[in-house]
Amino acid sequence: MIKAGLVCESPSERPARVGRQPLTLRLNPQALIAAGVEILGTGARVITADLHGNILAQRSVPWELDHMIFLVRVRDAIRALTAHLNPKNFLGVGVSLPGTIHRSTGRVIAAENLGWFDIDVGGILSEGSSARFHFGNDAHLGALAERWFCEPGSRPLENFVYVVLRQGLGTGVMLDGSLLRGATGEACEFGHTTLFADGRRCPCGSVGCWEEYASQRALERLYLEKRGAPRNRPAPDADEIIRLARNGDPLALGVLEETAGYLGIGFANINAVFNPEAIVVGDYLASGWDLMKDWVWNALRSRAPLRQLRLLRLLPSRHGADSTLLGTVALVLSSFFASSAESRPAA
Ligand SMILES: [Zn+2]
Repeated sequence: MIKAGLVCESPSERPARVGRQPLTLRLNPQALIAAGVEILGTGARVITADLHGNILAQRSVPWELDHMIFLVRVRDAIRALTAHLNPKNFLGVGVSLPGTIHRSTGRVIAAENLGWFDIDVGGILSEGSSARFHFGNDAHLGALAERWFCEPGSRPLENFVYVVLRQGLGTGVMLDGSLLRGATGEACEFGHTTLFADGRRCPCGSVGCWEEYASQRALERLYLEKRGAPRNRPAPDADEIIRLARNGDPLALGVLEETAGYLGIGFANINAVFNPEAIVVGDYLASGWDLMKDWVWNALRSRAPLRQLRLLRLLPSRHGADSTLLGTVALVLSSFFASSAESRPAA
């Protein structure tokens, strides 16, 4: 491994008093490179990253309604970033897909928020490539990134739930260090648990789903409903709503408070089922965490026994907008190190 450059030697932090000085063997982070792809309803991001999750290069691909045109452009971006890499060091491509997917082939069975049904995304992206492709659900990969690329020197979380808040609302559940996937990979779709029996209609076909009240899409819709939507005023996105709230805009503050209440109800449900040590939140809730955390905690405390909440932490994701992308890298690295060790953090 030293010859191949995968491992490098460095002087030990505890020098010997006599004899040959000891050396410490460390993995050379840049000797192993993985590519990651994140597909969203707004476009795709493609990166290459090293063993420590440092992003080495990246490209963006804008969204196209025609899925074939879009996916061929994503494939071109993957090739552009990886064509020059040494096959000995290039471990493969991890791809994050929203919705229900076939994990081994990358076929999207149903991604309601993209309007994709039964599309062979994996086949299109990997056509003509000799690289190994790995596929995962965005929320599951967010959880994997939190565990794999944890704070240096800190203990990786063992039992936690990662919550993705975008067009939809996804949850990745890590129990005793392992991702919970279920019989068909669809476990932990908390976004589609019912919050209100006669609530809003959800793209999944049900009504009153948590996703319809707490996702980024739901937050932005609520703001528009309360403000009205005159033609000469653009609809603000979640970042803009948070910015308005920071400036004291009462409408934005009210919308964030109402949405935080829905988030707290959902977190109480998650807490009751999994007894996690932490719920890690990404996306707009991570961006606006300082504004929303007290409202979320209030809703949670009003529904969960205090004894169950003593150890629970609510944490904004440490990876921000890169969380799922880093999860795709973690997916490739974990597969390389051991097919059964997806949940093992990097050394
Ligand atoms: Zn639903």
